[in-house]
Amino acid sequence: MIHNKVNITRPLNLSDSITQYRGRFAPSPSGNLHFGSLIAALASYLHAKHQQGLWLVRIEDIDPPREIIGASSAILATLDAYGLHWDETVLYQSQQSDLYRDVLQQLAEKELTYCCQCTRAQIKVQGGIYQGQCQELNLPSKNNAIRFRNHQGIFHYNDLIQGEYLTQLEFAQEDFILTRKDGLFAYQLAVVVDDIYQNISHVIRGCDLLEPTVRQLSFYQQLGYQAPEFGHVPLAVTEQGFKLSKQNKAPEIDNTNPSPSLILALKFLGQNPPDELYSYSVEQIIRWATDNWSTDDIPKKHEITFS
Ligand code: GLU
Repeated sequence: MIHNKVNITRPLNLSDSITQYRGRFAPSPSGNLHFGSLIAALASYLHAKHQQGLWLVRIEDIDPPREIIGASSAILATLDAYGLHWDETVLYQSQQSDLYRDVLQQLAEKELTYCCQCTRAQIKVQGGIYQGQCQELNLPSKNNAIRFRNHQGIFHYNDLIQGEYLTQLEFAQEDFILTRKDGLFAYQLAVVVDDIYQNISHVIRGCDLLEPTVRQLSFYQQLGYQAPEFGHVPLAVTEQGFKLSKQNKAPEIDNTNPSPSLILALKFLGQNPPDELYSYSVEQIIRWATDNWSTDDIPKKHEITFS
């Protein structure tokens, strides 16, 4: 199943093929969880536990300028309070730099990367999709981004929740960024490398990441690794179409009284929680939700207005 074109070093206790359900929740520590992110955490947890799988937590702290001090521990405390207990040790992406560098080196040796000097503003003027101008310029890496030569350009796939998903070919074929001009690792690189590193079999997350999934699929294929199954739950948005956050209408995440927002999140996910759940403990609510988890009942919508 696995071809070691890129030898991502695996922890010794893990086998080379994915034989077991291994799900994950991968928050960025740019703030504590809000109602929108709770929905993604809960869905990935329930999908894993309904199938007797493992559920891992990975803190995606690769963007120090956007990181809020204390957010990582606040996220973990919230997950715990909501009964979402993880298996295995939490992985911090800030500890994974050597692995990312190693993968970048191997990709460079295979001429699958090149440096790019284009600014965001220049790309915006060209319609928002980078057109490959730097491909043959042989630019140095200093102060330039590193892009992936995207030979695959996968533009559709079958989502576990949303069904057949199709995106613009132009978007799917873009040579996307693996490291930014400021030298920081990009999301696409870190997320795929770590999902491989952690032998993740299923990725359940919010629909804000539906479109980037096609890029991740191309990246897996080029690396020679089997991609996990992907499923995307609807995004909770305000009437104005903004993602729910602490700044707008999102219900309070209250670690001392998790039941109301937990039940609301189950309703949002179409799980029809009965009223008696209000008198249950958090552990009992999670038990009920795990036993009764039904992906078929999740609305097949990318966004749902929350009011
Ligand atoms: N770290 C990303 C976020 O918080 C999620 C990454 C993923 O689930 O693939 O939006």
